[in-house]
Amino acid sequence: MKYTSEVIEKVVESFSSLPTIGKKTAQRLTYYLLKQDEIFLKNFSEALLELKANVNFCKSCFNYTEEEICSICKSAKRNKSIICVVQEPNDLFAVEKTNEYFGKYHVLHGLLNPLDGISPEDLKIKELIARLNEVKEVILALSPTVEGEVTMQYLSQIIKPLNIKISKIASGIPMGSSLEFSDEATLSRAIESRVEL
Ligand code: ZN
Repeated sequence: MKYTSEVIEKVVESFSSLPTIGKKTAQRLTYYLLKQDEIFLKNFSEALLELKANVNFCKSCFNYTEEEICSICKSAKRNKSIICVVQEPNDLFAVEKTNEYFGKYHVLHGLLNPLDGISPEDLKIKELIARLNEVKEVILALSPTVEGEVTMQYLSQIIKPLNIKISKIASGIPMGSSLEFSDEATLSRAIESRVEL
């Protein structure tokens, strides 16, 4: 499709390169932005630039933060003897939304996938092991996919011999689905009725 403006074409292309955004939605968003005033567009574009400039990984849990250590890691109110291990920052957000988990987190940034050559060195696994000194329980809140199962098995083999309780969230999360798409009640139940490995 040819637009009467190259800028419009560029913005539509940018939007449609995002996950779940098709060409039609991209076009609708672009025309919506064209109707907004300059201040809105300035704030919007500045926020996008700040994403890369200001947001980095927490040096402890590898969640996104603008500081060295994120607010959850720093909080004295959170139980530091429990670590909930998730695949992506999105999943951490999903667990946090249940309002029923008060331990700390660790973000792996992926799952093991031998077929695709994703090995333990590609994930934040040694960083997790390095944090286990004062930890009494590790909860694996990984999606029940093949990769999730492989990762859980691998972590359990390393963590169990350290005499740390290791559990995985109960089924109820549909097979192959991501935590971020589970509703809070389901996820909350899944954490509550976690199974020891
Ligand atoms: Zn952190």
